[in-house]
Amino acid sequence: MAASMVALRCQYCGATLDAAAASGDTVVCKSCGTAQRLMDARKYLDQVKLEIADWLRKAVPLGMDISQGATIDPVARHGVFINNVKPRLDTETTEYRFNMSSLLAQPLVTMPFLVNEQVTQSNQPKEVFLFQAKVQEVSALAVSGEAKKDIVDASGLAVTYAYLLNNVGLLRDPQKPDRFGLMGQNFTAAAQSNQAIAAMFPGLPERLQANSLVAVSADLFMSGRVDEAGRKAHQAIALYESATAQASQSMSSAIMLEGLKQERHIADALVTLGSESQANPTDDARLVTQVQAMARVVQQYPHLAGDPSRLHAITRGYAGLRAARRSQTPVRVLPGAGSVFYPFWVVDLKYSFTTGALWAKKGKEVSEYLLVAANAFVGGAWNSAEAVTDVFSARIQGGLFDGLTGKETSISGGGIASLLSQSTNAYLNVPGIPPLTSEPDATEMATAYLNASIMSDPRVRQKLRLSAPRVAGIVYAAGVANGGGFGFSQLGTLSPRVTGDPRVLTGLGV
Ligand SMILES: [Zn+2]
Repeated sequence: MAASMVALRCQYCGATLDAAAASGDTVVCKSCGTAQRLMDARKYLDQVKLEIADWLRKAVPLGMDISQGATIDPVARHGVFINNVKPRLDTETTEYRFNMSSLLAQPLVTMPFLVNEQVTQSNQPKEVFLFQAKVQEVSALAVSGEAKKDIVDASGLAVTYAYLLNNVGLLRDPQKPDRFGLMGQNFTAAAQSNQAIAAMFPGLPERLQANSLVAVSADLFMSGRVDEAGRKAHQAIALYESATAQASQSMSSAIMLEGLKQERHIADALVTLGSESQANPTDDARLVTQVQAMARVVQQYPHLAGDPSRLHAITRGYAGLRAARRSQTPVRVLPGAGSVFYPFWVVDLKYSFTTGALWAKKGKEVSEYLLVAANAFVGGAWNSAEAVTDVFSARIQGGLFDGLTGKETSISGGGIASLLSQSTNAYLNVPGIPPLTSEPDATEMATAYLNASIMSDPRVRQKLRLSAPRVAGIVYAAGVANGGGFGFSQLGTLSPRVTGDPRVLTGLGV
């Protein structure tokens, strides 16, 4: 067999190994981070060589030596490339390119301490690295400029795709030491065939450079260098903008736009945390611990942990709370006293209802406020209708709905609206719990409440026309932990039944 160009490879992911970096008889893969014995890597290399030889036997006519130094007539080489090799390369390249597009539609970075299990992949890095080794092996057959370009494109695509696939593995694996450091290196390695991939996916090289900066930023953050982490993430933003501008002009890259948007959220969140460090430079250790504690809770809810826009919103809420605690920027606070401030989403609900007896029927347009306990899901079920101030049910269950006289300005009596009118902008003098949900969650929970509470009653459904709930913002209420939740004297009987597990939530107090 011809002298192979194939180098020592990681038996786990197929990336090339740096044998010089081995210590003793073990070597750590710089791409997937797995330690292995050199002996096993060599065994895997033998296997790779056999697979390539097998593939070549099928692709290249018998007796033809295609190794680099071989002196075969260029015309014959060109013929073999066009007739035998190219069709095989094209088939695999097309498939990988398609699958890489689907991968690029997704966010490929995440926040410190978090894994993202939502990202889906269609190939394993090992098969793609093997494909790249095959491409390398037949490169000597490419004689014409066009054939050489085919080789460069196929190889560039395979390298980029394979390194990105390794990062999907790292995104999912919380146990891997230095996972963000490895991700940073993989994004850089994925961008090494810049020209080939920029032609296929305009904007991708910039996106990969930005992702590399964000991964390094997350790594810095976890090692307590928060300000530096923020600066790195800030550098990524201009690159994301350039990538987005290019992708929005390109048919093949348009699919990246959603992934880019989500990655930008991660960069913005890290910049926000960096600003927090600048505002209070002596508090980095506590900041990192708090973010880690929030991550532990968020991680239990894959749809939160896998959604960078939500993670960004949570980070903003957390930063806002810290600023209120150090008397820098106030937050909205309801009247009342307690040992902890709890976050509520204020939801504005417009509806109209029919009042009056038959001969005096009229429609009434009303604006009602609901408060949604922002962390109700913690320690319990997601999206609980019980997390909402129950403004309607007393009235409805008491049969009072039928007895509306026409003088009412709302069904509930407007209890929350009058409470909100007494709210103030204030700094926080006792710990506050950051909201772990975002506006879409608040809408979802309010809708669940309305469905469970009033829309389930056909008599009510007939008389009531609801418009979509609109989230107006966050308000903090002082409360007291009591067994399974929090109590709020200012809400009285309207207090939501579910507010989340206080044993977990008080630990997140800022
Ligand atoms: Zn590896």
